[in-house]
Amino acid sequence: MSDIIKLLPDSVANQIAAGEVIQRPASVVKELMENSVDAGAVNITVVIRDSGKTLIQVVDDGSGMSETDARLSFERHATSKITSAMDLFAIKTKGFRGEALASIAAVSMVEAKTRKEESDAGTLVMISGSKVEKQEPCSCPAGTSFSVKNLFYNIPARRKFLKSDNTEMRHIITEFQKIVIAHPDIRFILHHNESEIYNLPAGNHRQRIIGVFGKQISNDLIALDTETTLITIRGFIGKPENARRTYGEQFFFVNNRFMKHPYFHKAVIEAYQNILPAEAVPAYFIFMEIDPASIDINIHPTKTEIKFEDERSIWQILMASVREALGRFNIVPSLDFENESLVEIPVRSSFRDMPEPPAIEVDPDYNPFSGVARTPEHKDNFNRFKRENVSNWEKLYTAFERDKGDKPAMEPERKFFQVKNKYIICPVKSGLMIIDQKRAHQRILFERFLEKLNQEHGVSQTEMFPVEIELNPADIFVLKEIEDDISLLGFNIQHPGQNTILITGLPSDSSSSDPVEILEILLEAYKQTKSDAATGIKEKIAAAMAEASAIPYGKSLLKNEMEDMFDALFACKAPNYSPKGNPVINILTLEEIDKRFR
Ligand code: ADP
Ligand code: MG
Repeated sequence: MSDIIKLLPDSVANQIAAGEVIQRPASVVKELMENSVDAGAVNITVVIRDSGKTLIQVVDDGSGMSETDARLSFERHATSKITSAMDLFAIKTKGFRGEALASIAAVSMVEAKTRKEESDAGTLVMISGSKVEKQEPCSCPAGTSFSVKNLFYNIPARRKFLKSDNTEMRHIITEFQKIVIAHPDIRFILHHNESEIYNLPAGNHRQRIIGVFGKQISNDLIALDTETTLITIRGFIGKPENARRTYGEQFFFVNNRFMKHPYFHKAVIEAYQNILPAEAVPAYFIFMEIDPASIDINIHPTKTEIKFEDERSIWQILMASVREALGRFNIVPSLDFENESLVEIPVRSSFRDMPEPPAIEVDPDYNPFSGVARTPEHKDNFNRFKRENVSNWEKLYTAFERDKGDKPAMEPERKFFQVKNKYIICPVKSGLMIIDQKRAHQRILFERFLEKLNQEHGVSQTEMFPVEIELNPADIFVLKEIEDDISLLGFNIQHPGQNTILITGLPSDSSSSDPVEILEILLEAYKQTKSDAATGIKEKIAAAMAEASAIPYGKSLLKNEMEDMFDALFACKAPNYSPKGNPVINILTLEEIDKRFR
């Protein structure tokens, strides 16, 4: 039998590897910017065309490359940043895998110009789909300029998979922010088509954060400063009263590298316990310095999740540090720290009985709109509903409790009462019906909004005194994406400046009259809704709008309001589940009640 195994040609291997590293234009922006930072640049300019689909250019004044290095830099596993496996435990640079340029060159058309300060001539390299098309001397400033054109031109399936321009631009801005906040000593400029989105002079952390998020954040920053033998924690946290309902101002960095860390996020939130407005998340910009040998940055190809040797101790130190900072501003009442800014916490030993890290369960395949029954448990509930004929709800009343005297059934009076301003309870034939008031309202609004969006004629609007707010540039792009649709639902938004918006009209269905709150919840809900083939953009918008406009828990309802909600809920096509697929209604059956009295 003949042998059949062959080594893949480099171009194919690179294309496969690129799938991990380069997912969208924002990944290219990240990799090129990080290379410029690693090259010691003082000025870095990023130029984007068509949300990176046509051009991503990053120009720096860093070290530049020799002619040989310029060519070698595009080889896989070619790096100047580590030489042995030992170096993996002391990484100080952003890159170290040596695969970014090889990956980018495998899936786009790249033109690189680079010159070292001391060389007279620079080098031009052009590569398309891993094939070197040109390499020649050129004249160019000292430093490096990479132009990446027509990303995924040779992988039509990937190119088609890219999202709308506004969405891709939002991802680019988010990646840009992660890098510029970590490196305030570098000047950064970001252009998109004809507009300059950022021009950030070198400065300190506080100045950089204000440069990125606008002047309004400056009064909101409380400094953190904690040194322990294990870790140093510096940075800023936001005042609780200014916490937004959008995510986008929460940043952890470890040794100047951005990281996602859901467990440490919980530590920050824990410190704010009971002092945050409902559904708000505080802003934070937290910079940790730790011995590189005690973290593993090698666990994820895009390198944003980082493992710590001593997570539990750090959790405690972080939470204490945030509490202490809040306490200094009299935000949390008295805290018993001996020193003002130095919280020395013994490492290890005393943390035996700390709480378990909260587990986070995410079902990546879950589609909130693909029907009602998703898990066996839900299916069970759903079937029980069917059995009890809830959707045929009028029947519930045919045998409403009658008067003692056995009078003939009159129009029975419907009884509603509210528990904890959260649940609406009403007696029905088979027992007690319990309705989650917020989810019920979301369901009602979701169906109403969806219908309006599909018919393309608007709902009624409340005109209001104009309110001006400043948004994170990334959120501006989210807003642009949904603006036409939400205007059909009653939102009226104008753009007097690049990052400022003016709200002049609100959907009259909204339970809140705070336009900022509604808009923030809307943007966040929209960002959080995963889109897939089955979920159209209209469903996403209707669900996000329903989330932003529904009555919250804690709102007390009048009898007629409960009644109206009840009727509107059961006029819905799918009253049993919220737009996100959570149950809206439950019945405590008579048997269950009887059982409790046995
Ligand atoms: P890594 O950053 O992991 O080393 P890359 O593929 O991103 O891998 O880059 C390969 C090499 O090319 C780097 O190690 C560096 O030596 C060189 N390089 C890349 N970009 C630049 C730049 N802007 N300026 C100078 N050298 C660069
Ligand atoms: Mg790199």
